[in-house]
Amino acid sequence: MGHSTERRLERDLRAATAGGGLTLYYQPRFSLASGSVVAAEALLRWPHPRLGLISPATFIPVAERTGLITEIGGIALLSACREAAQWAAQREVPGEVPGPIVSVNVSLRQIVSGALLGQLALALEESGLSPDRLELELTESTVIEPSVETMLTLAAVRDLGVGIALDDFGTGHASLAALKLLPLTVVKLDRSLVRSLPDDREDSAIVQALVATGHALDLTVVAEGIETEIQRAFLAGIGCDEGQGFFFSHPQPPAAFATRLMLAGQG
Ligand code: C2E
Ligand code: MG
Ligand code: MG
Repeated sequence: MGHSTERRLERDLRAATAGGGLTLYYQPRFSLASGSVVAAEALLRWPHPRLGLISPATFIPVAERTGLITEIGGIALLSACREAAQWAAQREVPGEVPGPIVSVNVSLRQIVSGALLGQLALALEESGLSPDRLELELTESTVIEPSVETMLTLAAVRDLGVGIALDDFGTGHASLAALKLLPLTVVKLDRSLVRSLPDDREDSAIVQALVATGHALDLTVVAEGIETEIQRAFLAGIGCDEGQGFFFSHPQPPAAFATRLMLAGQG
């Protein structure tokens, strides 16, 4: 990206952040045993007036470099909690079957800047969402060598009853020791591992070992990037708990996701 293109993107991103121009899509996550929706991941989208829908792969790095990510992360947290509170409210018998968990991606900068706990408290209070219906996703590279402050923040998140998922697991950065050290509830196997299943015998063996490791540590194991029925069946067969991917559903705008939940609830 050229220097001036990047500057322009940064300026537009700043305006979009301040002006409510960022939206969230939701991608459902399924129990591989029952086939029901257990969670949904909130994924940012930026509908740009001239450039169309910009992917987070393009603008998250800009937001990270400029520090804007802290503000963006706070906005994502609040609107995801509000959305999930609606899912819970639209259940026919409120309180009987809990609505799906909403899972929100969090940047290390959001934690290091000291903003996360305040943003979290605000989002839970404003939305009224039950903390056990919320989960934060941290990418593996974020937590390679967690500082004391990061560990304390994560412990405080867990004390609230909010879940913590280690995202993009198996891409080679986090040690197994880190898995034990962090107060995790979920590991999400990176889609680069899922892609070649089950033909690639090495990746199949690695995924089986990672599922067993996750279970040994009492974590829920989620596979990302499931694109085929063969991959789904393989993962279900080795006892992987949950799955997410284009085979089930692409990320959807909030209204489409809410409709899907309502139809599933009646079915
Ligand atoms: P991620 O958290 O690992 O999210 C999963 C990404 O994989 C999403 O890309 C999703 O659309 C994509 N995906 C899901 N299923 C499949 C599949 O079957 N095949 C393939 N090829 N891809 C699949 P997306 O939405 O473009 O997001 C990219 C990354 O941007 C996310 O990766 C996450 O790291 C980051 N991101 C998105 N929203 C936020 C946010 O609110 N805050 C922060 N800090 N980062 C975010
Ligand atoms: Mg994620
Ligand atoms: Mg991921």
